[in-house]
Amino acid sequence: MTDVKFNRLALIGIGLIGSSIARAVRKADLASEIVCSARTADSRRVAMELGIVDVAYETAEEAVKGADLVILCTPVGTYEAIAKEIAPVLQEGAIVSDVGSVKSAVVKAIGPHMPDGVHFIAGHPVAGTEKSGPAAGFAELFINRWCILTPTGDVDADALEKLSAFWSAMGSKVDTMEPEHHDLVLAITSHIPHLIAYNIVGTADDLEDVTQSEVIKYSAGGFRDFTRIAASDPTMWRDVFLHNKDAVLEMLGRFTEDLAQLQRAIRWEDGDTLFKIFSRTRAIRRQIIDAGQETPEPDFGRVHKADDKGGKA
Ligand code: NAP
Repeated sequence: MTDVKFNRLALIGIGLIGSSIARAVRKADLASEIVCSARTADSRRVAMELGIVDVAYETAEEAVKGADLVILCTPVGTYEAIAKEIAPVLQEGAIVSDVGSVKSAVVKAIGPHMPDGVHFIAGHPVAGTEKSGPAAGFAELFINRWCILTPTGDVDADALEKLSAFWSAMGSKVDTMEPEHHDLVLAITSHIPHLIAYNIVGTADDLEDVTQSEVIKYSAGGFRDFTRIAASDPTMWRDVFLHNKDAVLEMLGRFTEDLAQLQRAIRWEDGDTLFKIFSRTRAIRRQIIDAGQETPEPDFGRVHKADDKGGKA
């Protein structure tokens, strides 16, 4: 069995994802020491108060000294500068990884700066919420969720096995793929849905005051489900779209064509086409539930007020 215990884990950034890793690592005892670096004094203080790290440093350089596992957990637009900062002090044999939501740009931003003897393997846990910051994380975030590793070049097989075992020990299912393929898949499964949510909530916000208050009042009609996604961190998502431009534009082109097809079907009262498309999409949800990636509970398992009081919904 692979030995997944690290001596010193350095998390660069201690927001939702970094702090969830810290909690999961503590719970499963995967590192003797957990340290982090965070930009603001506030995040460093909260991380220490929560007891999820042993030391919170101001700089990434201090955090990675002596670390045998380093994971970048900041927005992807910061990765190149961090890679340059930590490169001179990385320990020989250390594994360097990340959790960024795009992969080709990340491999290009970090890879060239990694010194010989350091094993760089990019990664992306496909798990998250719309919350940010060290208080938002939880140890169970990665359980039964995929973590995609995108090793490139002549990556060391032992390092890859150890990093895979690390994510498995936190509850993840691990897959490996080419960075470019990751970006195409995630463009349609994550990036475009976020773009649509940001867009629809933005459109509603532009409506006149009276209609806008009704949008809020009647949001249970479907709108509120978009607002959860559209409440996601703006810095993180700005960086995702700037760093996965090609794949997002390709998928957006296909999305726009399909939207035009729906528009045409509505205009020409083509009920058969609408029914056919809506039936096909229902099947996709069933498959996601069967794959254990969503609850089968109606309305995402929300507890309705009457249920709270033990009455009938
Ligand atoms: P988050 O909760 O907002 O935390 C971001 C962390 O990065 C904080 O520690 C923040 O420091 C630090 N940071 C922000 N801007 C920085 C800068 N310019 N320089 C240095 N540090 C900076 O974000 P998150 O949700 O954990 O996301 C982190 C990474 O995980 C992103 O690359 C994202 O693509 C990826 N990811 C996110 C999700 C998700 O659903 N949220 C899922 C999978 C992967 P301060 O707190 O001190 O400001």
